[in-house]
Amino acid sequence: MSFQTARHETSHLVAIARERLQNLRRRDFVAGAALIDGRWIAGEQRDVVVDPATGEEVAEVARCNAADMEVAIAAAERSFDAWRELLPARRGELLRSWASLMRHHLEDLAVLVTVEQGKPIAEARYEIGYGAEFLEWFAAEGERAYGETIPSHKPASLLHVRKQPIGVAAAITPWNFPVAMITRKAGAALAAGCPIIAKPAPETPLSALAIARLAAEAGVPPGVFQVLVGDPVALSTSLLRDARVRALSFTGSTQVGRLLLEGSAETVKKVSLELGGHAPFLVFDDVDLKKAVNGAMAAKFATSGQDCLAANRIYVQRRIYDAFVEAFATAMARLKVGHGLEPATDIGPMTKLSVANKCRAHIDDASAKGARVICAHQGDRLGPNFVSPTLLSGATDAMLIAREETFGPVAAVLPFDSEDEVVARANASEMGLAAYVYTDSLRRALRLSESIECGMVGINTASFTGPPIPFGGWKQSGLGREGSRHGIDEYMEHKYVCFGDLAA
Ligand code: NAD
Repeated sequence: MSFQTARHETSHLVAIARERLQNLRRRDFVAGAALIDGRWIAGEQRDVVVDPATGEEVAEVARCNAADMEVAIAAAERSFDAWRELLPARRGELLRSWASLMRHHLEDLAVLVTVEQGKPIAEARYEIGYGAEFLEWFAAEGERAYGETIPSHKPASLLHVRKQPIGVAAAITPWNFPVAMITRKAGAALAAGCPIIAKPAPETPLSALAIARLAAEAGVPPGVFQVLVGDPVALSTSLLRDARVRALSFTGSTQVGRLLLEGSAETVKKVSLELGGHAPFLVFDDVDLKKAVNGAMAAKFATSGQDCLAANRIYVQRRIYDAFVEAFATAMARLKVGHGLEPATDIGPMTKLSVANKCRAHIDDASAKGARVICAHQGDRLGPNFVSPTLLSGATDAMLIAREETFGPVAAVLPFDSEDEVVARANASEMGLAAYVYTDSLRRALRLSESIECGMVGINTASFTGPPIPFGGWKQSGLGREGSRHGIDEYMEHKYVCFGDLAA
């Protein structure tokens, strides 16, 4: 279905979005200007931002080009010395002020996220708070970026390791968490003493540009935090080729991550990558069924399924398989599909049509290979970006959904018999971001926490992210860690210093 055919169904949604945007307290949040060297650049050329629920244009933003990026890199480089020389406590104060302004303007920012990204407004509000937490976390981590003293292997010598900021950093960020993926990177970089240039996804520039306004209002100096929107290839090529850009942090698909890694080789940048996931969700037959179903609902349907932590393969032990499918289908039937600004909505539109189409391809493939498709079809009349929550019962490892990340509200449930078998199937993937295990056996939980090949494991919980945890993946799910005490290291160099000849 096209946006045009869905128009009569969605005209009231267009009106809701328009009204909320017109009633923003901060109308300047939709000005669409890029922040370069402390100045707001409207751009000679403009790109449009559309509401993914209705296909309606909601704003225009500057389309920055390679020349703009050159100005931004030079400004970042110029700002570096003064920024790194500020005391960490002062940098922390600025980060905390920025976070506090984000909380103050939470509702406006949440409306922007929902209108450009599609997620339910409650989830958008959560994201603004979550995004602010990274700034607060790194405000403190900057003050604790300790070096070390090493017991000497040389006579009359003192061995020191100190950490120093790496230099200008770049952040290329995705559309599924358009605010938090920027602050998770910018908080760490700024706390380390590095300026950072953010290039948000073209689908979701408004919230990124709005938080840039708040950074400037908080007192972050010109050049230290800049946001440029525009053609991803042109802007990232400028960043990759420039030797002044010493670090690159990317969140997005594995495919683009590989290109950026390759492109960083020429100037040997320090690269951190948070890429695709394909999380296995293991349910053993000793577990409380209700808890497992609640966990699967949370792990599958947060961010309307467009989450790198989303459960993509739900393996359920055969003895409880039918009961699980029945309870899961009942819980899924309660999910309400709609515009994210409607308060009852649980599942919004997919941000990109390509993501919705991938969901449909996974459903068709599973259906053709014998899965039972359980779906209430409530989203279909709303427009092409909507995907109704769909359960694929009797799914097998031969189906596309068992091999590729879906990134939408489609749940494949696969039976298994033994622990060894399910661990082998869970690990038979080049992705290794997150996994979930539901079991009542402590021994089994400990065994699986060791044998599952991925960066993050939730045992009997679907909720484990936040600033204190080292977020990142194994295998082709990424490199490096974000958040936690490790996140700041992506923006720092270690320097070993040997003081010799100290004998009197
Ligand atoms: P993507 O990787 O294409 O986009 C992410 C970012 O990369 C955006 O800022 C985009 O503008 C930029 N980008 C795209 N092509 C580029 C290029 N050639 N050079 C430089 N930058 C480029 O992601 P997508 O296509 O929008 O989504 C596809 C899949 O990516 C999803 O289905 C999902 O599997 C994965 N994804 C993962 C995450 C995550 O949180 N890890 C986030 C978004 C998407």
